[in-house]
Amino acid sequence: MTTVDLLDTPIEYLKGVGPKRAELLRKELGIVSYYDLLTYYPFRYLDRSRILRINEIVNDSAYIQVKGVIVNTQLVGKGGGTRYIMTIRDSSGTLDLLWFQGINWIKDKYPLGTELVAFGKPALFGGRYNIPHPDLELASEYYSSPADPLHPLYNTTEKIKQKGINSRALSKIAKTLISQLLGVIPETLPADLLNEYHLISREAAFQNIHYPTNLEMLGKAEARLKFEELFFIQLRLLRYKITRSGKVRGIVFPTIGNIFNEFYAKYLPFELTNAQKKVIKEIRVDLGSGRQMNRLLQGDVGSGKTLVALMCMLIALDNGYQACIMAPTEILAQQHFKTISRFLGDMDVKVDLLTGSTKAAQRKSMHTLLKSGELHILIGTHALIEDAVQFNRLGLVVIDEQHRFGVEQRSKLWNKAETPPHVLVMTATPIPRTLAMTVYGDLDYSVIDELPPGRKPIKTYHFYENGHEKVYNFMKQQIDLGRQVYVVYPLIEESETLDLKNLQEGYELLQQIFPAPKYSLSMVHGRMKPDEKEREMQRFAKGETQIMVATTVIEVGVDVPNASVMIIENSERFGLSQLHQLRGRVGRGADQSHCILMSGFKLTSDAKTRIETMVKSTDGFEISDVDLRLRGPGDLEGTQQSGVLDMKIANLIKDEAVLRITRTHAQRILDEDPGLQLEKNQRIARQFYFLNKKKADWAMIS
Ligand code: ADP
Ligand code: MG
Repeated sequence: MTTVDLLDTPIEYLKGVGPKRAELLRKELGIVSYYDLLTYYPFRYLDRSRILRINEIVNDSAYIQVKGVIVNTQLVGKGGGTRYIMTIRDSSGTLDLLWFQGINWIKDKYPLGTELVAFGKPALFGGRYNIPHPDLELASEYYSSPADPLHPLYNTTEKIKQKGINSRALSKIAKTLISQLLGVIPETLPADLLNEYHLISREAAFQNIHYPTNLEMLGKAEARLKFEELFFIQLRLLRYKITRSGKVRGIVFPTIGNIFNEFYAKYLPFELTNAQKKVIKEIRVDLGSGRQMNRLLQGDVGSGKTLVALMCMLIALDNGYQACIMAPTEILAQQHFKTISRFLGDMDVKVDLLTGSTKAAQRKSMHTLLKSGELHILIGTHALIEDAVQFNRLGLVVIDEQHRFGVEQRSKLWNKAETPPHVLVMTATPIPRTLAMTVYGDLDYSVIDELPPGRKPIKTYHFYENGHEKVYNFMKQQIDLGRQVYVVYPLIEESETLDLKNLQEGYELLQQIFPAPKYSLSMVHGRMKPDEKEREMQRFAKGETQIMVATTVIEVGVDVPNASVMIIENSERFGLSQLHQLRGRVGRGADQSHCILMSGFKLTSDAKTRIETMVKSTDGFEISDVDLRLRGPGDLEGTQQSGVLDMKIANLIKDEAVLRITRTHAQRILDEDPGLQLEKNQRIARQFYFLNKKKADWAMIS
């Protein structure tokens, strides 16, 4: 048995655990092996050197400890509702300690008059603090053997606490394990990295994370374990990338030819921004490399991604290949079709649109032209991935609004060509760079971090409900100036009926305030038939109506440059990235645009932060950073399936610097030794395969 395998030992073999507790640990905390226990880190530490006086307990936010003499004990209630109350007193007052379980055990353990140190988390009940289920220690013992100066606190569940596995029990088990493994805990990082970053050994790190000698050592343990965690995540992502590019050859597009050059010289209506130029260059390198491109292109709403996509498609055409764009909705696909047709003017490039509502006859002729290669660029929705859609030579696939398509759908597009086409995924949902490095760590990654010149930043305001009057007046003013207005209502699935009613009522109210014939309104929501929806959208786009009352169906991609006001009702119910997307619907023309966030008076602190952030910032990356802070990475769109975010100790926000360092080193190591075969990389290799195996095991269990 190698030392790595040792950590695979099932936890039940550990002294003091056994099969029953092992089962509980597995079910409740996901701890199966020694390794799982070693990496089940405390969530915080209590400074045991500080004992509060009872009257110093003023909130229930932190674990505390107090010292007192037992002055009363009492058994209250019957049956399931029985509780045991132990009252202790110090010089400042009295405090109740409570037990709902394990009463028989505690009841006779400590007689009246015993002096105890109790530690736990206070709870407020009937205007008084008590401590439910505290840990107790005899004051005499506490002083004779001061326990760990920093007492670790582990997350547990109600269920296992009832079975006697509380934080303290976990601490004990962890300690037993570590003392048993001393001297055989394998090091996973090479000595030069440990030296360069002053990292302590893995063994010392596990020791000090579970029972720190002091604060300084705790800090070192955390630093070391974070480094390790992030390093192996990056190593895995980068290895995956290497494996894929080794297996998957790419079409080579060696030339930039007539089509691209003609477009650039004669049809491009404006100067490209520097960011657009940079990204096109990055993509060109990919397309010429002989590897299949898998690139994520991030750019805020309005940053000009469509044009970048088009120019890349022209490179494919120049090399004798076809290209396609897949959009998540029909409206978006139509818009791309129009925009791209407009850009191309009378160039000799054949573009067509294929969606669910394309008529059968048209569809058929499209299929033929596609198969023969006469159709160069196909734009569409999911309809593109149907089997009947066969390309002659598909060279580049562009996918707009990434998070709406699963990996599986993407791979279907791949299979439409012998050599898989290059893939460019475009998303306007800005995600923080640190997250992108992790979630999309296996993709190449480009950012358009600059808007075309001359854009006026959208002005954003927040109004409470009582501000409606003012807002209506403002709308009238703007409409009189010839502008158009969106009014958006939330539609959240659980309360869909209620929300729809809100939308309907809002619409009727607005009809009264903005009466015909002077004004006309459109309404769009998700329950409408696609063609009805489309008709209303078109009326608004053509300027036949001035107000568009809608749900978030308009969130993505709709482009009406004359619309310059976005009003969001109940904005407190929207997430930040959604608010940002919605706001991106305005500010597309030459006029100053405005976004008005309406809300109720009662706002949670998160809602307040979201609204304040929107008012303050128009920078999608800044907004996504706040979003990440508020929600945690697991909830951000597109990150759920990634599986790389189940970090145990590192934090994508706080540990950005470490993330960068580890990525650089992982890259450097793989550049030299892609197969992790060199002698000096054996520590790394062992851990790498250990973690990989573990992942596979888990996949089978769940
Ligand atoms: P998005 O990145 O949100 O998809 P679009 O591609 O729709 O953005 O571009 C937004 C608008 O900016 C379009 O009207 C487009 O024609 C215009 N645009 C794109 N690139 C430039 C540029 N370099 N200079 C000026 N306007 C541009
Ligand atoms: Mg777009």
